[in-house]
Amino acid sequence: MSELQNKPSPEGNNGGKKGDPNQKFEPTKQFWMNLLITFLILFGLTSVFSLFAESSTKTEEIPFSAVIYDIRQGTVDKIAVEGEQLTVTYKKAHEADEAVVKVSKKEAGTSVSESLANYGLDTDTIQAVVIDIVEESGFRFWFVQLAPFIFPLFFILILMWFLMRQVKGAGMQAFTFGQSKARVIDPADKGQRITFKDVAGAKEAKEELTEIVDFLKNPKKFIDIGARIPKGVLLMGSPGTGKTLLARAVSGEANVPFFTISGSEFVELFVGVGASRVRDLFKMAKKAAPAIIFIDEIDAVGRVRGTGVGGGNDEREQTLNQILVEMDGFEPNEKLIIMAATNRPDVLDPALLRPGRFDRRVMIDLPDRNDREAILQVHSRKKPLGEDVNMRTIAERTVGFSGADLQNLMNEGAILAARENRKKITQYDLIRSIEKVMLGPERKSHVLNNKEKEITAYHEAGHALVGSVLPYADPVHKISIISRGRAAGYTLTLPFQDKRMQSKKQFKDDIAKTLGGYVAEELVFDDLTTGASNDLQVLTALARNMVARWGMSEKIGPLALDSDGGQTMFGPGIVGKEYSDKVAMEIDAEVHRIIDEAYGIAKEVLTTHRKALDAIAKKLVEVETIEREDFEQLLVLHGIEPKQDVNKEEK
Ligand code: ADP
Ligand code: MG
Ligand code: ZN
Repeated sequence: MSELQNKPSPEGNNGGKKGDPNQKFEPTKQFWMNLLITFLILFGLTSVFSLFAESSTKTEEIPFSAVIYDIRQGTVDKIAVEGEQLTVTYKKAHEADEAVVKVSKKEAGTSVSESLANYGLDTDTIQAVVIDIVEESGFRFWFVQLAPFIFPLFFILILMWFLMRQVKGAGMQAFTFGQSKARVIDPADKGQRITFKDVAGAKEAKEELTEIVDFLKNPKKFIDIGARIPKGVLLMGSPGTGKTLLARAVSGEANVPFFTISGSEFVELFVGVGASRVRDLFKMAKKAAPAIIFIDEIDAVGRVRGTGVGGGNDEREQTLNQILVEMDGFEPNEKLIIMAATNRPDVLDPALLRPGRFDRRVMIDLPDRNDREAILQVHSRKKPLGEDVNMRTIAERTVGFSGADLQNLMNEGAILAARENRKKITQYDLIRSIEKVMLGPERKSHVLNNKEKEITAYHEAGHALVGSVLPYADPVHKISIISRGRAAGYTLTLPFQDKRMQSKKQFKDDIAKTLGGYVAEELVFDDLTTGASNDLQVLTALARNMVARWGMSEKIGPLALDSDGGQTMFGPGIVGKEYSDKVAMEIDAEVHRIIDEAYGIAKEVLTTHRKALDAIAKKLVEVETIEREDFEQLLVLHGIEPKQDVNKEEK
């Protein structure tokens, strides 16, 4: 019936990167099972048939004319008639002998006596023979009568069933459209079960998802206390970082059914199919609750609506609307959690991100060195490794690799070893594989070499240090030289409290912090890279806004010269440039002054604390990510007081 029973093949069982189910037809275990069953059935039928055939071949078959002749000779004792089949028993020569039995066939439609008479036998001769009309046995009669029809029909049915199960080509989809194409992974199926143990690293993501697992495991506890349970969880991260894997691990941990469908599977030839698939999917999942619905690659349907580039896709919009409707239409106590994954959170429709929908967002970063080592360990579990294999070294050399890349690397290593007929994978196999994976077509993220790594480390350390020393900048939460998006690294700063307003002092410190990377590069390497280009854009825009929009320059005064034309009391605001060239020059000069000042401050901070800068950069090269606690320890070691939450103390 539905594709529900059709379990997907375990992901990556052939070393493939993605377990996309309907990409191509691969002979799975099930395929061979089906083939076997078909053969068994055919075999069974043939043997049944030959059983019937046998009864007639065991005894000698003679033509009807021979029977006539024998009757004339008076050697025939009796004839048993069964349909057209005649069983002729001959008279025994001696009492002790066994009677000779032969079979024959009469013409259809006439009785035996009639046939015999037709051959010119006289009645006396006929009467001397005992003629016994045997009722055809029910089964045999029907079998003989119907076999010619049933047999081919049966054969065709088997063939159809076989095709239906295996072919998922475009032609067959016409049979199933409308029904959800979701596959379900049953928690009882231990072979496919994935738990957090199978996901290496991703510590933060796992922590956040533990709550979801708790809820699914024990929903009553949460419902009784009136807690509002998140409905939607959006997993975000670059391709291959393990989003799909994590979602499955959540269901494995919670031991609940996992309904999965890919965003692109909603969108089909027929308009309206996507929406009805969504309905079916939710209906199925609700029946199985507590359960997880996982919409992979949700950006395929969840793009911002109505942008109309290249013509809006009505089908996609309907599907998206249906998802929104379904998400609004179930109560939190329905024990259903919707998870979705995307590597393009930026293109998602804001409606999806509203509270009550995908309001939980979990970011999955590319793995750092320790995580990479752990992932390599996970994927070497079933592979025989030589004694010289050192995962740490491999992890060090694979900056920027995703989990999928690392899995691929282990696989390539195994292939190399097998090709050279070795029983174990050596370190050299793995090192050669790094290059292979790097050159592979799927890699998109940038991989840093050692020099770039060092420069990035100093750059980020520069941001972090300036931000920590200046009083009005936000405290540093995390520093990383693992690329995120287009940036080679990032420094995450978060305010202690949510900010609704920003002050001039904060902006000034922010600009200095943003310049920290640039200044650090210049200071340490006496050279500059393009790595700071985005920083420069950001800080220039900030400085310009301070001057021309927020009235934060004494020289220009409280004038909003640049404006996005927001609504004012007197109608639409001014759009664009509404000032003289002289004022424009003044603005430019002020922007320059602010940035120059910030540059001076950043340079002073980094020169004074050069030792701390070196220490942070060194640590970054080593571990790639530094969390807040470790960072603050480093600061304290170098005599810098970490930031305190001032507001808290005031209370
Ligand atoms: P995504 O959905 O983010 O593109 P997947 O979840 O499909 O990535 O990951 C692809 C494969 O990479 C997984 O099947 C898994 O084998 C491997 N992988 C990715 N991340 C990890 C991880 N943290 N631990 C172990 N394996 C991982
Ligand atoms: Mg995926
Ligand atoms: Zn920077």
